[in-house]
Amino acid sequence: TCPGDTAETDPALDVLRRVFGYDSFRPGQRDIVDHVVTGGDALVLMPTGGGKSLCYQTPALVRPGTGIVISPLIALMQDQVDALHTLGVRAGFLNSTQQSAERARVEQALLDGELDLLYLAPERLQMEGTLRLLDRADIALFAIDEAHCVAQWGHDFRPDYLTLSVLHQRWPSVPRIALTATATEATRAEIANRLNLTEAKHFVASFDRPNIQYRIAQKNRPEQQLLDLLRAEHHGEAGIVYCLSRASVEKTARMLTENGIEAVPYHAGLDNQTRAANQARFLREDGLVVVATIAFGMGIDKPDVRFVAHLDLPKSVEGYYQETGRAGRDGQPSTAWLAYGLSDVVQHRKMIATSEGDEAHRRKLGNHLDAMLALCETVECRRIQLLGYFGQPGEACGNCDTCLKPPQSWDGTVAAQKALSTVYRLDRERNQRFGVGHIVDILLGKTTSKVSQFGHDSLTVFGVGTELAEAEWRGVIRQLLAQGLLSVEGVHGTLVLTESSGEVLGQRRTVRLRHEPKRESSTPSSRG
Ligand code: ADP
Ligand code: ZN
Repeated sequence: TCPGDTAETDPALDVLRRVFGYDSFRPGQRDIVDHVVTGGDALVLMPTGGGKSLCYQTPALVRPGTGIVISPLIALMQDQVDALHTLGVRAGFLNSTQQSAERARVEQALLDGELDLLYLAPERLQMEGTLRLLDRADIALFAIDEAHCVAQWGHDFRPDYLTLSVLHQRWPSVPRIALTATATEATRAEIANRLNLTEAKHFVASFDRPNIQYRIAQKNRPEQQLLDLLRAEHHGEAGIVYCLSRASVEKTARMLTENGIEAVPYHAGLDNQTRAANQARFLREDGLVVVATIAFGMGIDKPDVRFVAHLDLPKSVEGYYQETGRAGRDGQPSTAWLAYGLSDVVQHRKMIATSEGDEAHRRKLGNHLDAMLALCETVECRRIQLLGYFGQPGEACGNCDTCLKPPQSWDGTVAAQKALSTVYRLDRERNQRFGVGHIVDILLGKTTSKVSQFGHDSLTVFGVGTELAEAEWRGVIRQLLAQGLLSVEGVHGTLVLTESSGEVLGQRRTVRLRHEPKRESSTPSSRG
């Protein structure tokens, strides 16, 4: 310990050492703790694993009264409280999973001043009984965990969180600390607004996770690519594989198991018991792989997750960052790997085009997707792109795929013009639906039955693209979609031009494309 660190005159440091057994606060924690201890409101943005819990637990123990922690993670409350008990902290929780006798016991302990921390599910604050209970208690602070759940268009929105503004109205003198690992400027503003935290001091920690190696690969044969990754780099290690649908979760978990990699599925379609059991195994065992939908992971504190793999494109950079952030909380080298391809872009654009909600909502989803695509297609450092999204400047990291193996780019203007004019020609036949495959067939001059049926072999663009192979054309089209030079429409995902397409067709704009590695020789090439 440094001279000058005098725990006797520093109650927060004393709690940190005596109760939690740590020597010192991490960068950022100290200021937050001091601010809340002295009664200030705080909005804390810190990456997963950064140490948010101590930021409210310490002040709760230093201030008189009970710290009330609002958390959506009901399934984890028992674990959190158990962990605090082993440290000698007097903690309890109230949620819908309890028997009423147990609930009554916790409520009495609160009123008797025998609790340091009380975890509360957000829906309990909609009950008048809970509000009256808190009226009678001595409250040290309110901590609002996973505060981004209040953001209405966010990926974890919980309607219950909207009622949390009651905290300020009903108990204006109790300090509040809201915490999240999700942190664009827009989300931050929305949290501050909806939680009535406009006076709160903002604490923004660095979002860099230097031990995570970010890699985004062309999706080719995803299951084989995943197997290769796990066998070559993560043999026998714990990790999470994210898939978009329940069906692909099940399929992928089976595939891994059949290939000798122990894996369990996790998604909302499984019964509670199976889900809880699979989560418990993941936390307890070494080297288990969980294949999951995004339903899995919030609040999971397993330090030695060595990889997070995405077999499908996440909807937003925020989601991607949160999910990949579950790797390497222990600071050891870890991998964030994503396989991404043309079908992901088409599928996402289609989902947005047909999603419920108004135009503004769709535009927002579209913006989220665009940022995610920009991250996928960048030829620069992934980390610069990622941190830039969160408003943080950075330098090329040397620990991402584009730093380690800088991709080449090429002038794809002519190729883009060929693809766009093909789409333009077909676009006139409005009542017909032509997907990517058909466009590529025309470019390659393939006389398929569909081509013959519509007489597309007489189009001027027929066969103008034989200089590229089929896979390369798919790469071109994917990148045009990512750059907003193409779009998709309707439930069938018909390719259509955008406002910007005209600039390329009219020679007013050039197009840079990422050079794609050739497909393995095992896949047939239609070139020639
Ligand atoms: P978050 O909620 O931000 O994801 P946690 O609060 O779960 O992060 O903390 C992540 C890990 O870091 C935990 O294992 C915690 O015990 C540890 N930790 C937090 N603060 C400190 C500290 N000051 N010194 C040592 N370890 C810490
Ligand atoms: Zn980099």
